[in-house]
Amino acid sequence: MSEKIALYGGTPAKTVPYGTGKRFGKEELANLEEALNQNTLFYWFGGMTKRFCAKFAEMYGSKHCVATSSGTASIHVALGALGVGPGDEVITSPITDMGSVIGILYQNAVPVFADLDPHTYNMDPDSIEAKITERTKAIVVVHLAGNAAEIDRIVEIAHRHGVPVVEDCAQSYCCKYKGKYVGTHGDIGCFSLNDFKHISAGDGGMILTDDEELYYKAMMFADKNFNRLGEEVVKNVPYLAPNYRMNELTAAVGLAQLDRVEEICAKRNAYGKRLNEGISGIAGLYPHRVLDGCDCSYWFTMIRIDEEKLGVSRSEFVKALKAEGIKASEGYIPSCVYQYDLFRNRRAYPGDTNYPFDGTHGNAIEYHDGDCPIAEEILATCVKIPVNEFFTEQDLLETVAAIRKVCAYYRK
Ligand SMILES: *Cc1c(COP(=O)(O)O)cnc(C)c1O
Repeated sequence: MSEKIALYGGTPAKTVPYGTGKRFGKEELANLEEALNQNTLFYWFGGMTKRFCAKFAEMYGSKHCVATSSGTASIHVALGALGVGPGDEVITSPITDMGSVIGILYQNAVPVFADLDPHTYNMDPDSIEAKITERTKAIVVVHLAGNAAEIDRIVEIAHRHGVPVVEDCAQSYCCKYKGKYVGTHGDIGCFSLNDFKHISAGDGGMILTDDEELYYKAMMFADKNFNRLGEEVVKNVPYLAPNYRMNELTAAVGLAQLDRVEEICAKRNAYGKRLNEGISGIAGLYPHRVLDGCDCSYWFTMIRIDEEKLGVSRSEFVKALKAEGIKASEGYIPSCVYQYDLFRNRRAYPGDTNYPFDGTHGNAIEYHDGDCPIAEEILATCVKIPVNEFFTEQDLLETVAAIRKVCAYYRK
């Protein structure tokens, strides 16, 4: 006899609310005060952004770092530095934040979506290789949910075709693959400091590269393509670039947050690992796959379910978990990115135009359901479960117990 689930009147598995805590403290406040006392909040005149960049680069063992205004900005800047422009193709993931593709479109290039590994939810190297054409100008590899893509193979494939790799690490601080941080495997690594990531400065972004030329190009591209390196600022710009500068207040908070990031990620790693171990071996339930050699920093974890084997629909399964007091949600993003109206209708810009999808540059592109069947299957079957550095041992045990209890109930 399996235990009665809370959805049908049983006692909820979760007996206390999930742990919470403070993300910001006196260290952030002290840095903010110091920034204000500089009497300038401009990154080029103040010291905070410079210190933040130096510390970020040191922590990652990278040669150069550029600070920006968001993760989206970081990826746009990376693409600008790489010279992505009209008619180019950039390969990326169909399960990601819009921030991975916004910069591609603002450069009037087109995203090409590679299919995913069914259980890591990261880009499949073979699918990437199949999508490379002579127009492929870059690959934006997303490390989803703190979990490394097969980045060594992807970089090998990309470089064999002469294509640079941008790593989107917005969700993957302190994630290592084969002993090396993600964000340092490819040509440029991009990070986000928006309020939902492992660390927050409200908004903001970081860029890492070992390539000096890319560094200077990125630095300029994030700042209207102005060149501030000489005595006089050179404002006669060679081509269009946005203003994605970080300000000193953001850097002040980011600098203090950096002292917290390793502990935050270590806690999430331990919690996520034990959660996944705790729910492994259940027929019809597939935990988030983490590659051998990856230290995952679990921005969240996402399981997949086989409704038939589990004996319950996904919606009822999630309802049952919620009744147990477990935080869980059906699906992740509403559909693959290429199924969003923008791509379905090929409307990147306001007005009566299908540019840049329309073949102006000889590579007309359409997006259809079924383009990335595995990614679509993932979204149809996944259940997202939060992971947080403030969650307690009890949260872990009760979450595992709740999932096992609900599964046992429907299996009978
Ligand atoms: C959050 C996020 C971004 C964008 O970062 P913002 O700071 O919100 O612009 C890009 N890619 C991924 C995978 C993200 O999760």
